[in-house]
Amino acid sequence: MALKKLVAGNWKMHGTSAELAEVTSISLAEETAGCDVALCLPATLIERAVRAAPGFAIGGQDCHAAAKGAHTGDVSAAMLLDAGATLTIVGHSERRADHGESDSAVRAKAEAALSAGLSVILCIGESLEVREAGRAVAVVSAQVDASLPHGDAAAAGVPQRLAIAYEPIWAIGTGKIPSMEDIAEMHAALRGRLVVAYGDAGNQIRILYGGSVKGSNAAEIFAVPDVDGALVGGASLTAADFAPIIQAAH
Ligand code: PEP
Repeated sequence: MALKKLVAGNWKMHGTSAELAEVTSISLAEETAGCDVALCLPATLIERAVRAAPGFAIGGQDCHAAAKGAHTGDVSAAMLLDAGATLTIVGHSERRADHGESDSAVRAKAEAALSAGLSVILCIGESLEVREAGRAVAVVSAQVDASLPHGDAAAAGVPQRLAIAYEPIWAIGTGKIPSMEDIAEMHAALRGRLVVAYGDAGNQIRILYGGSVKGSNAAEIFAVPDVDGALVGGASLTAADFAPIIQAAH
């Protein structure tokens, strides 16, 4: 049976109080949608966004693996939860690149977030060089194997609170997307890895596609087998751009 789709927005380092009205408008778009919708916001905006859109899923974009400590500038999973977040992204390629996050660091973050009670969107994806070398499936499969949460955190949070986002790095913010056949091939491979890791529960984990999703291509992408939603960057910043993607998941 098809999984209920999740359409999540990633605002990256965008958003101040002036944009709270967009959060409210996007939350209203969920009311008529047949999918789950969430917005992952800058940590500074989470608490106000939760107040502006009560009951709507607001998330962070990263969390530290430790519960607390001497980590200047970082935010823990418990802090996100305390601010009203219900989910967080971990392992986004921009964090892997900008902050040198390894697969094992991403796994530790995913385990910390699940243990704290958050839902997790765990990102993986290949570079253009890897895609052109014909190694995308092998590289992303290895990446997901090494990044997935295990132990008590996985026992508590899988499958309901874990989603995977396949985001080819070369498709993020570029307007380029893989062919539907390439997306299908990757999502099928990821489904296989999830079943190896978690048994039948792996069939219940949502696998999102991310990278230049727009109102104009969302329906085609959502029709691909094993695409259970989308992680959306630029087109999630306004209700005008995001609502058509949410509606396409209906
Ligand atoms: C992202 O960074 O998660 C993303 C998918 O960005 P965009 O939709 O802008 O390509």
